[in-house]
Amino acid sequence: MSSLTNPIKNHPNDQVFDLPPLAMDAEGLSQDFKHYYAHTFGRDRDCQSAYYPYKALAITLRDRLMERWKRTRQAYDDKRCKRTYYLSLEFLMGRTLSNAMLNLDVDGPVEKGLYDLGLMLEEIASNEPDPGLGNGGLGRLAACFLDSCATLQLPVRGYGLRYEYGMFRQLIEKGEQVEEPDHWLRDGNPWELERPEFTQRIQFGGRTESYTDHAGRLAVRWVDTHDVLAVPYDIPVPGYRNDTVNTLRLWKAAATDEFDLDEFNAGSYPESVAQKNAAEHITMVLYPNDASENGKELRLRQQFFLASASLKDVLRDWVRLHGKDFSRFAELNCFQLNDTHPAVSVAELMRQLMDDHGLEWGEAWDITTSTMAYTNHTLLPEALERWPVRLFRQLLPRILEIIFEINARFLAEVSLRWPGDNDRQRRMSLIEEGYEPQVRMAYLAIVGSYSVNGVAALHSELLVEGLFRDFHELWPEKFNNKTNGVTPRRWLSLCNPGLRDLLDETIGTDWVYHLDKLSKLAPHADDASFRKRWHAIKQDSKQRLADVVGQLCRVEFPVEALFDVQVKRIHEYKRQLLNILHVVHLYNRIKRGDTENWTPRCVLIGGKAAPGYVMAKQIIRLINHVATVVNKDPATEGLLRVAFIPDYRVSLMEVIAPGTDLSEQISTAGKEASGTGNMKFMMNGAVTIGTLDGANIEIRDQVGEENFFLFGLTAAGVESRRQHYDPNGIIANDPALMDVMNLLESGHFNQFEGGLFDAVIGSIRNPHDPWMTAADFRSYLEAQERAAAAYQDRDHWVRMSILNAAHSGHFSSDRTIEEYNRDIWGLEKVLPQA
Ligand SMILES: *Cc1c(COP(=O)(O)O)cnc(C)c1O
Repeated sequence: MSSLTNPIKNHPNDQVFDLPPLAMDAEGLSQDFKHYYAHTFGRDRDCQSAYYPYKALAITLRDRLMERWKRTRQAYDDKRCKRTYYLSLEFLMGRTLSNAMLNLDVDGPVEKGLYDLGLMLEEIASNEPDPGLGNGGLGRLAACFLDSCATLQLPVRGYGLRYEYGMFRQLIEKGEQVEEPDHWLRDGNPWELERPEFTQRIQFGGRTESYTDHAGRLAVRWVDTHDVLAVPYDIPVPGYRNDTVNTLRLWKAAATDEFDLDEFNAGSYPESVAQKNAAEHITMVLYPNDASENGKELRLRQQFFLASASLKDVLRDWVRLHGKDFSRFAELNCFQLNDTHPAVSVAELMRQLMDDHGLEWGEAWDITTSTMAYTNHTLLPEALERWPVRLFRQLLPRILEIIFEINARFLAEVSLRWPGDNDRQRRMSLIEEGYEPQVRMAYLAIVGSYSVNGVAALHSELLVEGLFRDFHELWPEKFNNKTNGVTPRRWLSLCNPGLRDLLDETIGTDWVYHLDKLSKLAPHADDASFRKRWHAIKQDSKQRLADVVGQLCRVEFPVEALFDVQVKRIHEYKRQLLNILHVVHLYNRIKRGDTENWTPRCVLIGGKAAPGYVMAKQIIRLINHVATVVNKDPATEGLLRVAFIPDYRVSLMEVIAPGTDLSEQISTAGKEASGTGNMKFMMNGAVTIGTLDGANIEIRDQVGEENFFLFGLTAAGVESRRQHYDPNGIIANDPALMDVMNLLESGHFNQFEGGLFDAVIGSIRNPHDPWMTAADFRSYLEAQERAAAAYQDRDHWVRMSILNAAHSGHFSSDRTIEEYNRDIWGLEKVLPQA
């Protein structure tokens, strides 16, 4: 055991914690800042680095969080309250500093204190790396949920992985995506607190054997394993101005200090030491795939590592507070699985309860199926996780035995309900038979959970009608919907201070807690002087965005133009291609001189493609080539600008959402589970152009059809069109689309690289195009024309903008979390210790 995990013999008495509360005013804050800057980090007047002011400020604020963090932890322990654990392979938290200042209510004093020292807060804050421990919507949702749980003072802890390298940095070179590793921890992370005393030991490999335990029962143990240590790092998650600070616990993999004795004695000392490296690889890097499975062994290792470490952590805490009696465990604990990524938790909880804590199968199963809850995030078949049985047998032999036993008992239940229906048993089995039998992780999650939810009304309906139909017939009561939301702290207060101040002045300040109160804005849409102020704030935000676009893309965006924005992961189902077809159409019109009543427009597109997703990378290239041709053509001056913004991430979205007029949410209906980018835009007063997909439907219901630009087939329409989909017929009958295709196919955007875009362009003409881009083109174009016309009537547009923000209250993640808590978790609010 290392010295860090040894209990100290020379234990301090409680006086060590007897500290006066830390000052929250400019004077006290700047005093601490000076102390850390000069004494702790030893900087003097020769220091030129902007990083140390950031670090000194971070520690100053972290101290304030520490006080509240401890009081929150102790309140949860003392109350022996029910808790929820949010298990997720991704947490896309964004920067911490400005959020901590906002939530602690010290942004004003800090700014003043620093100003007096000759420092600009904004510049200091820009030195914080943006931790990218997630791919996109799913990881960002986890972050918004943690913020809401802390603000609602619910005892919820996040569990995830501390990836050494987060999401890659995206560069654009000659129009192409180039990936660069993101070593975000290089300069250390002032916000994390290492907790070596809570290290866990995780097993891999080996074999199982049965034995008779001390009570004379037959038991199983998992032996000859290659173990890896899981070391927790805690990140504080402050609630909004309420003294609650919850915890995000991230696990880092570390080698055990044991050596392979055989190799060691055989004289291969370096090989034996080098083996330790393999263990640490588990948390080295985030897999950069959004909405697509990844069958790599290392990914399964990551999944089990998270599940096992987190469950051991919870069970150890249970024994500490409640002893070895698990009879009340289910009453007081809940695990929310963010997609199937942590679904192996179902089998791992069974294993720990039986093998480590001596429970019988029946007791363990009752506990598991009344504590696990599963959230599905996608209907795309390519995203459904399946792991080869062979891989499980090799990596997690004990877990595979348990999965087989769960399946045998489950299929017995199915055959009791539908005697003789062998086809159904085959369909519902946790094991997909075939040449390479696979474990179906979504089915494991459903069978092991008491709640299964989708993330928007349409998505939840499609789930029970399609993918999970058999399971819904068996257990209709398990299935429910929880429409996603986003936190109004980061996505309004923090990113749009101008709008925040106007809201505070107009409707009071409690909208931050109760976002529904934004509806009080609606009457002000009729007030000309209010509209003027609203418009001025929007124009300022557009200027800030234009500055960033100018810097990063070298493209000038005049703020009088309509800012038309699509930022999200690049994926065929999200149809960035449809967007670019429209841009090419506008370019055609300009070239043709068809510019009467033109609405000047700046089109911004951004997002990362998974490094192995060839088609997505081609789409990025096409966007960039179209942008180059359009922007340099003098005919487009003052009419059309196109830019691809590199390295889309949380901190960029904080500038993009406030500066957007038109939000592009144009996925093929039935394919986008919910979307959350759509909600951030709406909150900041953008108007949506979108299909009836995911949460767009609910956005339109809230804001009213007159304040939303709808187009495209419905989900049902998409499915029924598939049989007789004829894109070439559609193109032939639509002169505008024909012109667009002609220009693309002529090689106008790839003059010196013949055939470069053949695959992308060809996909539009393919009768089996799953995303049916051509089917929605005409309707999209007409919606764009309505949007362009509406923008020319400023009063009308500003009114729509106000009404969008006013009706965005439903999309606060506070509402979502209250629903999770009401229907699934049943937690009580707990105040931190006085
Ligand atoms: C909100 C957000 C997303 C999700 O966007 P969608 O449009 O819902 O796909 C992805 N990435 C980042 C950085 C975000 O902030």
